[in-house]
Amino acid sequence: MTIQGIIKKAVKRLELEGKLLTPDFYTEAFCKESAKAGMNVEDCSHVEKFKVTLNKEFQKELTQYRIKTMSELARFLISKLNRTNSSHCSSLLESQTIFTKRVLQVVEVLHNKEASELAKKSIDLLNNEASAAQVDQFRQLWVNFITTYDDTFLEKLKSLGHVDITDLKKSIESLKISSSDNLVAPMELSSIASLLVSSLVPSIASSVNEKIADISQKIKKNPSLLESVSVEAEIKSAISLRIALDKQSVKDMIKSLDGVLDKLSLRLIDMIERSDNSTVEIQKIKVELEAYNEDPITNFKIAHKKLFTIAVALEENTQALSKDLKNHNGEVKALSKKIEILEEELKKTREESKEDFLTKLYNRRALDELITIQESEFERYNHNFSIVMFDLDYFKAVNDNYGHDAGDAILSAFAKILKAEARNVDIIGRFGGEEFMALLEETNVEGGVIFAEKVRAKVQKARFMYKGERIEVTVSCGVSERSKHPSIDTLLKAADENLYKAKKDGRNRVEH
Ligand code: GH3
Ligand code: MG
Ligand code: MG
Repeated sequence: MTIQGIIKKAVKRLELEGKLLTPDFYTEAFCKESAKAGMNVEDCSHVEKFKVTLNKEFQKELTQYRIKTMSELARFLISKLNRTNSSHCSSLLESQTIFTKRVLQVVEVLHNKEASELAKKSIDLLNNEASAAQVDQFRQLWVNFITTYDDTFLEKLKSLGHVDITDLKKSIESLKISSSDNLVAPMELSSIASLLVSSLVPSIASSVNEKIADISQKIKKNPSLLESVSVEAEIKSAISLRIALDKQSVKDMIKSLDGVLDKLSLRLIDMIERSDNSTVEIQKIKVELEAYNEDPITNFKIAHKKLFTIAVALEENTQALSKDLKNHNGEVKALSKKIEILEEELKKTREESKEDFLTKLYNRRALDELITIQESEFERYNHNFSIVMFDLDYFKAVNDNYGHDAGDAILSAFAKILKAEARNVDIIGRFGGEEFMALLEETNVEGGVIFAEKVRAKVQKARFMYKGERIEVTVSCGVSERSKHPSIDTLLKAADENLYKAKKDGRNRVEH
C-alpha cells in the first residue's frame, strides 16, 4: 500500500470514530493504519524509543497515563520538571562534595598510612566525577577500614607512664624519650622472652625439666639476655631438651599402649585357636599383631587402625556368635525335652519289666506277683508248693577281693546253674542282691530240699573263673512248704528262718 492509501484510510478511520482531524488524532490514526498495512514508519515509534531510556518508575507512569504521542510525552516531562527544584539539588550536591573532599584532605594528612592512602584515592574519585557504583565501592572500603582498625597498640603506651591515649600528640611529647632505641626495644624483647618461655614448656610431657625451668626463669627476669650469644646456645639446648622430653613421653605412652595391645593380641589369639570358624579378618589381625613390636612411635597410627579393626571384627564375630548361640539354645532346649520324654518312658518300661537286668531271671516284682497267683491257686484248688531261698556265702568278700565285676559274673553264672537244675514249671527269680528264690509247683518240702541240695552241690563243684583265677563260691538254702503253714507270710518267714539257720550252722548247707 502506498503512503497515500494509508493517509486516506487514516482520515476515514477518524471520520468513523467521530474524531476531529487534529495533529494528535491524525498521527494516532495514521500510525495504526500503517501498522495494519505492515509498514514501518519511524515517526510512529518515537515515543517507545524515548520511553526505554527513562528509569523504570517513569516508564511505568508512561504506561499508566497511556502516553502514545510525542506531544503527550513532552507534556508529561514538563510536568515532572516543574515539580523538581533542580537548582536546589545540584547546589546541595556540590557543597556536600566539596565538604567531603575537605574531610578527606584532613584524613590524608593524619598519621595513619592506610587511612591517608584511602583518602587520597577517594579524593581522586570525586575529582573525576565518579559513578554511583564507584562511590558505593569506596564507601565499602571505608567501612572495612573502620571495622578492622586495631588501636590496641595504644594500650602499650599506657604502660610507659601517664599517657592520654585520646591525645597521641600530647602523649608522645610527654614520653621524654632520651634515645630512640629505648622506646620500643625493651618492650619487644620482653614479649619475645615470654613467648619463648611459653614455647619451651613441653606440650606432651607433663613436667618441665630443671634446665628448661632455669633458662626460662633467667630470660623472664632479664629479657635483654636474649641479645647475648651465650644465652643463644642455652636456648638451643633447652629447645632440644623440650623435644626430647616430649619424645620420651610419647614413647612411654606408646609403650603402655603396646602392653595393652600385647594382652589383647594374646587373648585374641587364644580365642581364635579355640574357635574353629574364626573369620579371615581376625586371622589377619593375628598375624599383624604378632609382627607389631618394632618401632612403637611410627606404628602409632597403625596401632590405632588395628585396634579399630579388632573392635569391628570382634563386634561382628560376637554378633554372629550370639546368633549361633541363640539358635543352638533352641536346639538344646528341644533335645532336653526329648531326653526328658525318653527318660520318662525308660522309667515306665523299667517299672513294667519283670526281668532282672543282670541274670535275666524274674525280678523281685515278678516274684511277688507269681507268689500271689501261686497262693490263690493253693487257696482255691489246694495246689501245694514249696519255696527255696538261696543266699550266696560271704559274697561281700568276693566283691572285696576280686571286684564288683567278678561278683556280677558269679551272680550270672549262679543264675544259669539255677535255671539248669529247675524244671520248666518251676519259677526262679532274683529276690535281691545275692539272694535268689525258687517257687516249686506241686512240690513238698522233701522235693524242695532235693532241688536245693542239687544246686548247692553244683555250686560247690563249679569252677567260677574270673580273669584266669578260680573263685570258690558256696550257697546256703532255706526251704519251706506251703501246706505246712497257715499263711503265705508265715511260709516266707519260715524259709527265711531256715536260711538264717543254714548260715548260722556253718553255711554251704540246706535247712528246712
Ligand atoms: P553271708 O554269707 O552272711 O551271706 O555273707 P555275705 O557277704 O554274702 O552277706 P552280706 O549280706 O553281708 O553281703 C551281701 C553282699 O552281696 C554285699 C554286696 O556287695 C553283694 N551284692 C549284692 N548284690 C550284688 C550285685 O548285684 N552284684 C555284686 N557284684 N555284688 C552284689
Ligand atoms: Mg544276703
Ligand atoms: Mg550272702
